[in-house]
Amino acid sequence: MKLAVYGKGGIGKSTTSCNISIALAKRGKKVLQIGCDPKHDSTFTLTGFLIPTIIDTLQAKDYHYEDVWPEDVIYQGYSGVDCVEAGGPPAGAGCGGYVVGETVKLLKELNAFYEYDIILFDVLGDVVCGGFAAPLNYSDYCIIVTDNGFDGLFAANRIAASVREKARTHPLRLAGLIGNRTAKRDLIDKYVEACPMPVLEVLPLIEEIRLSRVKGKTLFEMADKVGGPSIRLGSNLSEVSSGPCPLDKASQKGIDGSSNKTRGKAEAKQDEMTAIQYICDFYLNIADQLLTEPEGVIPRELSDRELFSLLSDQLFSQNTNSTKKAISSSFAEQNSLGSNNGVKQSSLVNSHEDFFLV
Ligand code: ADP
Ligand code: MG
Repeated sequence: MKLAVYGKGGIGKSTTSCNISIALAKRGKKVLQIGCDPKHDSTFTLTGFLIPTIIDTLQAKDYHYEDVWPEDVIYQGYSGVDCVEAGGPPAGAGCGGYVVGETVKLLKELNAFYEYDIILFDVLGDVVCGGFAAPLNYSDYCIIVTDNGFDGLFAANRIAASVREKARTHPLRLAGLIGNRTAKRDLIDKYVEACPMPVLEVLPLIEEIRLSRVKGKTLFEMADKVGGPSIRLGSNLSEVSSGPCPLDKASQKGIDGSSNKTRGKAEAKQDEMTAIQYICDFYLNIADQLLTEPEGVIPRELSDRELFSLLSDQLFSQNTNSTKKAISSSFAEQNSLGSNNGVKQSSLVNSHEDFFLV
């Protein structure tokens, strides 16, 4: 199975990719993750360092494919996940699609392309030009990572359009959206209502994930280090999420145990382990959904105008509610001084509508 993970820059694609790759490996699959972002840090938390890119290696060998060995470009990461970084075209010149094409060509020459149960492409998606859409040519499923904000969903909609386009000539489906770094999902829900697609998971902003990047480790490695090899591989999210969220529990108590000096170290460690394992279960749940080879969808993206209108209506109703509250409390305050703010409110409404709907 070939997967392509897309999303706006900085949204959490590589974090999500690395943790899904490990989750799939924990389910017994042989996994290769290919970083297709010129930033070439996709596999950093899997290997703990920036591995040499395919393009740099090919350049060093003067594009003599026969002189490149698998160990020059394929590095084993945590939990047996193999890692490749495609690298980027020279800035301001060349094409990301060419780089992906060269990467796949080399992996085929090395007899590595068909050796894996799962190949996961981690690709940026701010602009899905022909080049950056290239990994979709090789993929069975696209997965989109987004937050609950306008830019992330705007990128998601462009990626959905690319999937629809590619699906005309390739057996490609959109497996769904993963919400990341967001406690809220109202805009995501509004979007999928208008452009139907599954939502595989929604993950909040989690300090341990930010820390895992700094430490150059995935969450699974952190869980294994904290809790030993006994991570609950069998548990699924519905079982876990039926109780109180361990993240809440851990953060209430202070995940590093420092907020309550009277608590024993063992108890703090237990909380930390439970919280990290809880997040790992999110990724295991996504892996399990993918392993069922879901039907997915061929999306029908919204026009830019529809998307602007949809998201601004939602944002606006939230803002209006809070503005209304602010205005009514200000009105009550001002009223006692003999002033009226009703006019102010309607001018706010008009300027907002003009901005989005002209
Ligand atoms: P991308 O690959 O989309 O550019 P990254 O995966 O590199 O994004 O993530 C960007 C930053 O956001 C990293 O520092 C990462 O640790 C952090 N991050 C990603 N997801 C989360 C999350 N759910 N909670 C907290 N930090 C996150
Ligand atoms: Mg990345």
